[in-house]
Amino acid sequence: MFSYRHAFHAGNHADVLKHMVLLAVLKHMALKETAFTVLDTHAGAGLYRLDGDYAQTSAEASQGFLKLVASAPAQPWAPLVQDYIDMVASFNAPGQWKVYPGSPFIAQPHLRGRDKLKLFELHPTDSKTLTANVAQLEAGRQIAIAREDGFETVKKFLPPPSRRALLVCDPSYEIKHDYGRVVSMMMDAMARFATGNYLVWYPIIPRPEAHDLPRKLRTLANKAGKSWLDITLTVKSSKLTQDAAGDTVRPGLPASGVFLINPPFTLKAQLALALPQLVTALQQDRHASFTLDAGG
Ligand code: SAM
Repeated sequence: MFSYRHAFHAGNHADVLKHMVLLAVLKHMALKETAFTVLDTHAGAGLYRLDGDYAQTSAEASQGFLKLVASAPAQPWAPLVQDYIDMVASFNAPGQWKVYPGSPFIAQPHLRGRDKLKLFELHPTDSKTLTANVAQLEAGRQIAIAREDGFETVKKFLPPPSRRALLVCDPSYEIKHDYGRVVSMMMDAMARFATGNYLVWYPIIPRPEAHDLPRKLRTLANKAGKSWLDITLTVKSSKLTQDAAGDTVRPGLPASGVFLINPPFTLKAQLALALPQLVTALQQDRHASFTLDAGG
């Protein structure tokens, strides 16, 4: 169950999309005075080394964040892309890209004294690393970490006392059971707290469960009468190829999506400026594209 380690993938194209959107939602949430809670059901280790062994082994950031910052856009970066690059830069010395922040560390700078961050991470090593990384923030009770099943435990925090929360659900989907668990958790969460803000990341791979997930989330949001945004970024074809020896080569993750329920009303227009730039910067072949669908 625990073969997945996000350190291999940190800063890849999926992280670029997910973290750019997450940052935009957090910034919007912090505009209102009322306190909010961020619930991160699959928190990961919090901080990752881009120059460490894990990252070097998979080199995924070189096709993601590092490729983005090495590219020269034809126009100035769209505000969402610039904010995202600036956010990662805030964890690094000027001109160096050694550290990549995960979702807990993207959320933390947006908390005001009255806001809370609740992190769930099951992997024993990642949970320990997360605890050590968060300890450096000296945030006290504002940040809570539980080595518990995020799908299940998050329910007891919904709705939060202030009735404002962003639930971030970013599983590894290493077991196909995760797809069904995302849907059940979201159904339960919407029944408890339909006015909450929700961000679900999903992979786009040739697997029926993966294909069905965004469809099921759209149905859920539509039935609840809530607005939604479904954002996808494809960087290459999903077709299998053959190497010189005739062996089948899998393409790795070709695309991913972020599904939001109750998104900020300004976000779609902002994404319409940012996504074409991500496609141009991160494309690996002519199949690179984005979609931006809204409903509700
Ligand atoms: N959200 C993180 C970020 O953006 O930086 C990355 C999370 S990573 C994709 C998924 C994480 O979920 C892994 O660290 C994995 O160990 C953890 N995990 C797997 N199943 C879990 C569960 N049921 N509850 C909580 N964490 C889980």
